Amino acid sequence: MSRKFLYLLVLGSLVLLLASQTGSDPYEANRQQMVNEQIRARGIDHYPTLEAMERVPRHRFVPREQQRFAYFDRPLPIGYGQTISQPYIVAYMTQIIDPKPHHKVLEIGTGSGYQAAILAEIVDHVYTIEIVPELGRSASRLLNELYDNVSVKIADGYHGWEEAGPFDAIVVTAAAGTIPPPLIEQLKEGGKMIIPVGSPYLTQQLMLVEKRSRRYTTRSLMPVRFVPFRRSE
Ligand code: SAH
Repeated sequence: MSRKFLYLLVLGSLVLLLASQTGSDPYEANRQQMVNEQIRARGIDHYPTLEAMERVPRHRFVPREQQRFAYFDRPLPIGYGQTISQPYIVAYMTQIIDPKPHHKVLEIGTGSGYQAAILAEIVDHVYTIEIVPELGRSASRLLNELYDNVSVKIADGYHGWEEAGPFDAIVVTAAAGTIPPPLIEQLKEGGKMIIPVGSPYLTQQLMLVEKRSRRYTTRSLMPVRFVPFRRSE
């Protein structure tokens, strides 16, 4: 190989490398707009949540054909009859559990992995369970590429993740008829759980569950629509 050719090759690679570093993310402006108009404007003011929503590349968590809608104000299909939640709902559920840097959080319903990614930006470790093996595997691949503090398990989340618990907070992203007792069990004293409760395919209530002195209190926050919480039997 001639010296000149080698020189051009090295120079070319450097230019490409620089372009890939600075050419950055084509969706950055969309993401900023999403945070300003859908999240901040609607009253979310928890700084770590806002920062996480500004950083996580939501378009990477949706199927290719949905990417141009990734920052729209709505949920999107992710295959297998499941959806990635609307950005505002993700922000709301994140803010309400008041996540802290030392927290260990359990999520039931990994889906695309987007909610897990938002939590991973803020807390020490995220444990997330998905019942659809294909979704669990693809979310696990992407989450492991982007983070080193997320563990994904393919299982029925009804039973929680006992070996990893107890948790500072639990986020359930599928609608259950009742609150699964193992999840309350695995919540730390003083811990918070957010869970949509109600009949599948109808409007459900987003509930905040707080555990204090081994009792728990519940509070309805707002009507929501989530995909059903399934059971493995
Ligand atoms: N948090 C997800 C939302 C996905 S929708 C996101 O950010 O994309 C809810 C997910 O819960 C679906 O993927 C569904 O398959 C899953 N799910 C339903 N019942 C479940 C159960 N019992 N255990 C674990 N996951 C469950």
